[in-house]
Amino acid sequence: MKREFELIVIGGGHAGCEAALAAARLGVDTALVTLRTDRIAHMACNPAVGGLAKGHLVKEIDALGGEIGRATDRAGIQFRMLNRAKGPAVWSPRAQVDKFHYRQIMRHTVENQPNLSIVQAEVTGVLTDHGRFVGLKTREGADLIAPYCVLTGGTFLRGLMHIGEHKIQGGREGEPAAESLSGSLAALGFRVGRLKTGTPPRVLRYTVDLGRFDPQRGDVPAVPFSHRTRAIHRDQEMCYLTYTTERTHDILRNALDRSPLYRGDIEGIGTRYCPSIEDKIVRFPDKIRHQIFIEPEGRGHSELYLNGISTSMPVDVQLEMLASIPGFENAVMRRPGYAVEYDFFPPEQIKRTMESKPVAGLFLAGQVNGTSGYEEAAAQGFVAGINAVLALRGDEPFVPGRDQAYVGVLLDDLATKEIDEPYRMFTSRAEFRLLLRQDNADERLMHHGVRWGLVDEKALETVERRVRSVRRMVEQLERTPFPQEPGNEILAAHGQEVVTKPVSLLQILKRPGIRFADIEPLLRSRDDHLRPELTTPSDGSNGFGSHVECAVKYMGYIERQMKDIRTVREMERKTIPPDFPYEQIAGLSTEARQKLLTKRPETVSQASRIDGVRASDLSILVVHLERYRSSAAAPVPLDA
Ligand SMILES: Cc1cc2nc3c(=O)[nH]c(=O)nc-3n(C[C@H](O)[C@H](O)[C@H](O)COP(=O)(O)OP(=O)(O)OC[C@H]3O[C@@H](n4cnc5c(N)ncnc54)[C@H](O)[C@@H]3O)c2cc1C
Repeated sequence: MKREFELIVIGGGHAGCEAALAAARLGVDTALVTLRTDRIAHMACNPAVGGLAKGHLVKEIDALGGEIGRATDRAGIQFRMLNRAKGPAVWSPRAQVDKFHYRQIMRHTVENQPNLSIVQAEVTGVLTDHGRFVGLKTREGADLIAPYCVLTGGTFLRGLMHIGEHKIQGGREGEPAAESLSGSLAALGFRVGRLKTGTPPRVLRYTVDLGRFDPQRGDVPAVPFSHRTRAIHRDQEMCYLTYTTERTHDILRNALDRSPLYRGDIEGIGTRYCPSIEDKIVRFPDKIRHQIFIEPEGRGHSELYLNGISTSMPVDVQLEMLASIPGFENAVMRRPGYAVEYDFFPPEQIKRTMESKPVAGLFLAGQVNGTSGYEEAAAQGFVAGINAVLALRGDEPFVPGRDQAYVGVLLDDLATKEIDEPYRMFTSRAEFRLLLRQDNADERLMHHGVRWGLVDEKALETVERRVRSVRRMVEQLERTPFPQEPGNEILAAHGQEVVTKPVSLLQILKRPGIRFADIEPLLRSRDDHLRPELTTPSDGSNGFGSHVECAVKYMGYIERQMKDIRTVREMERKTIPPDFPYEQIAGLSTEARQKLLTKRPETVSQASRIDGVRASDLSILVVHLERYRSSAAAPVPLDA
């Protein structure tokens, strides 16, 4: 067995796969060490990828040259664009995935990747030399050596599962916990915290009366995640929607004293935004029903995932709960829901490159940084993998800004926000979300993927051609007067006010409710440069029309956001030395001083986003930074 590598990735989950693939594809001799190779890329919870803001992350990883989007397109069994009722900035793609097929695809991809060795072992400790990573100890006794490592241990570090009064050591159902690794990092100076997440019971499909639920169909045509997928033609599976009942709530309420959450058995903090069903009935006592999305775990597979009723109640309570839901009276529960507590490393201990501060050369990615979700994990894994390679080569790291990508928002939030519950991405976290749309992830990021050699140049040429075509189309719309005949007929057909004064087609397209396809016939001459494949109708997909709509409808807002971005970039340029003596600066509020000492932001802009750092603290900080620099790193006197 080979023992020496250039990079070792611990973990074969969503973060680990992206990290290992990115590095190996860049020609780095990489090892992926995981507890069970047959569980590579396992989806522990929801059989789905994407969703609000998470879909944006997947599109971004894909544009950069990652794998999650392509694997989802291949394993997807139902595709939907969420949030269509709202503006395109917050549309988000989501796919139900055959989780078994997904695992198979990803395992095949990593196993057949040149430069990538897969090792099944349990890592028990990290070896360092003068604060630098040098290798790993495994329970099997073989030490592994490398100058760089990406740790993506997921929910496995001292994982403890709860089902009612029963506690089972394990990272997730059927898999052991990694008992020693977090202790080894604690001994190296890492702060360790504890979080919790949970999953619902799975039931057998043929024991459920699906006819009693509202069917939920996928979009036709399906919009793929990956720029490498031309189209998805396969049949889509059906999902269903139903609701809990008041009886369900009574059952859970009466059994709260047996819930590990309410008995005080769970010390890890769970998610506020994705609570268990017992948590929901306590927190929202007036709500008479809660949604349950019924989702197949795979095509032709017998298990159904019950999205919305994650629980750690005892098995008998889970059975009673299920029987109280119409359509589930005879349901057979294949696997009970459970909660899992695990160790994580509060992310002020990583830089925005994902390299840890206590141990140089050791990068941390995924759930171990306090995040939750496959997409958040994949995004971090990809960035950590790339940055480990760039560090190995002595190149500049890849740190996208908040104005460039949701990935940038994620990295920055981890560095600046208080993570006291599992962190997940939302569109509301991105202040520049009109610019960070899922439809333009390729415009924003693909050039990086091409530069690294992870994305084909031809793909970028197609994107650049589209951007040019959209720009020309916008100019054409601006130049073209709106022909009142037959234009007003079209407006009237859409219930819109007719036009009596001269206006351009661009002004008409700015109107809410008017789509590009509505006014396209009014264009006297089509731009010859628009290639036929770019002129798909604006049907909600990422066709040419929807790109034109975004450019036109958000015109003013985008200009305003660009102005804000210039201000932020100015602040980003003001860097803060890693050893800046906050403790010696008079005038900082106590809270700000404490937070700045803990987080050690890399720039003034980052400092400004830390909760508890006020505008007055920032002005003091900026003044002292100038003095600190001009006095050639001399300590700032307390009374300065
Ligand atoms: C019960 C449960 C419920 C969840 N519910 C949700 C949810 O509702 N919503 C949501 O978004 N996410 C949920 N998740 C989280 C989701 O599974 C993770 O966010 C995602 O899988 C994290 O990816 P990751 O790559 O960081 O870690 P994981 O996918 O957990 O992968 C970790 C990998 O590390 C390996 N590993 C760990 N320790 C060692 C070691 N010492 N040596 C070698 N290998 C090691 C494991 O074998 C595994 O391959 C849930 C997870 C679980 C277990």
